Parts: sequence; structure tokens; C-alpha cells
Amino acid sequence: MRFAQTIALITGAGSGIGRATALRLSGEGAKVILVGRTKQKLEETADEINKKSRIPLAEIFVADCTDAEDVAELAEYVERYYGDLHVLINNAGGSRNSRILDMSEQEWDDVQDVNLKSVFLVSKALGKIMVDGARRQVHNRAIVNIASLSGHQAGAEIPHYSAAKAGVINLTRSLALELAPYEIRVNSVSPGFVETPLTEQGLKNERFVRAIQKNTALQRVGNPEEIGSVIAFAASSDASYMTGSDLLVDGGWLIK
Ligand code: NAP
Repeated sequence: MRFAQTIALITGAGSGIGRATALRLSGEGAKVILVGRTKQKLEETADEINKKSRIPLAEIFVADCTDAEDVAELAEYVERYYGDLHVLINNAGGSRNSRILDMSEQEWDDVQDVNLKSVFLVSKALGKIMVDGARRQVHNRAIVNIASLSGHQAGAEIPHYSAAKAGVINLTRSLALELAPYEIRVNSVSPGFVETPLTEQGLKNERFVRAIQKNTALQRVGNPEEIGSVIAFAASSDASYMTGSDLLVDGGWLIK
């Protein structure tokens, strides 16, 4: 129960990696605040968590993490009802394939907003609550940002996403420096190919799946729980001397 007495907030918690992370953290005792834009998906995750625990551990908050007003309301809610925050998982993100020569400015902005700007907005608003909490009480405190294998290598089909995720990895390092005096650790996790709603369409293509298998040392796609467990490690006191790091969880894609 590494997360007993822990309040954790996970963005994009209604599906995929965010959902698996929320299940993992709550399974180890955390109270979890599930954030996303679609109420129904969040409720489904919350129901699954609350069915498993004696007391309800999950609550939902509907918010668009790219919208500063929504994020301000989220911070107000956390402050009012919880008064502190120990773990923040910036997981909301996504992309659509598009090449630079065909890409509209709007497509570029949308991908920067959801993958990079959201990390800035949410970390700024909720980071203030974490810093105030750190001044009052010693507790394991951590932020984990979900970057990507794409933040480490170029992608002709996803240049906007690759740029945004590389930004997340470096923003993580800057924030780690800024929050270190408060003993708040900030790390990123970079998943490789993982089976989630984000990749569902692509993974229907057998040639694409075979190419992943061929180019991945472990010869398979990952599942969300295999990322959630690493996120949980980075968020836990097991990683108490780790800050500003990126954990690559790609099944051995980059080493091939
Ligand atoms: P997913 O199932 O589509 O999860 C993304 C979640 O983010 C959704 O639940 C979505 O819910 C939420 N979201 C999207 N835009 C949002 C916004 N503006 N505000 C709040 N929530 C928002 O995909 P996933 O694969 O689990 O992705 C999770 C993270 O892992 C992302 O950052 C992604 O880039 C990263 N990642 C995934 C892979 C992979 O292979 N799957 C690989 C590397 C990195 P709503 O639409 O309801 O808001």
C-alpha cells in the first residue's frame, strides 16, 4: 500500500494509460481524482475503482486540461475539498497523423495544447497546492508527466506530436529543478507502442503490428498496466532519489 494517505490526481483518467494508472494507484491505497473531458468514461473508471475498495477512493472532475479556466476551477476544487495534493499524473494527450507540408496551423496548435500546454497549465495550478502542502507537511510528493517514445525520435507522420513530447521531457527537467527545494520530484515516463483507444485504429493494421513486433526487442505491443506500474513507481517513495528523469518503457524499441 505505497499510496495510503495519498491524494493523487490523474488527467486523462477515463481510458488507456490514465485509467490503468488510476486503478494501480487506488489499488495501493490512493484517493484518486479522475480528470478528463468525457464524464461517462470517468464515471466508468471511478465505478470500477470504487467497487474494489471498502470506501470510495475515486472522484471525478470534468475539465479540459488545455483550458486555463477549467484548470483554475479544478485547482479550486482540489484546494477546497482536499486541501492538499501529493501526486499529480499529467497523462492527457493524443495526436492524429499529419505531415508538416500538409498540416494546418490549427492541427499544430491542438497537438501542442493537449500534450504540452496542458502539462504547463495543470502543473502550474496544482503545483501551487503541492508546494503549499509541502510547507505544512512532509509527505512523498511527485509529478509524473507522460511523454512518449516519439519525444526521443523523429516521426514523419507525427512531427507535431514528437515536438510536443520532446517538450514534455525537457519541461519535466525544468520543473524538477524548480520544485526540488520543496522535495517535490518531477519525472516523465515515455511509453512505446501501447494498446489503448489512441492506438486502436493503427493496431487494426496487421502490417503495422508486424512492423512493431519486428522493431521491438520484446516483439510485442505493450499494455496500459505495464505503463501504469512504471508511473506508480515514479510517483512512489521507491523513487525518492529520482527527479528530472525520463523512464523509457518501449519494450526495447530504441535499442534495436
Ligand atoms: P487515450 O486512451 O486516448 O487516453 C488519453 C486520455 O486523455 C483520454 O481519456 C482523453 O479523454 C483525455 N484527454 C484528451 N484530451 C484532453 C483534454 N484536453 N483535457 C483532459 N483530458 C483529455 O490514450 P493513451 O494511449 O492512454 O494516452 C495516454 C497518454 O500516453 C497520452 O499523453 C499519450 O500521448 C501517451 N502515450 C501513449 C502511447 C500509446 O502507444 N498508447 C505511447 C506513448 C505515449 P477525453 O477525450 O474524454 O478528454
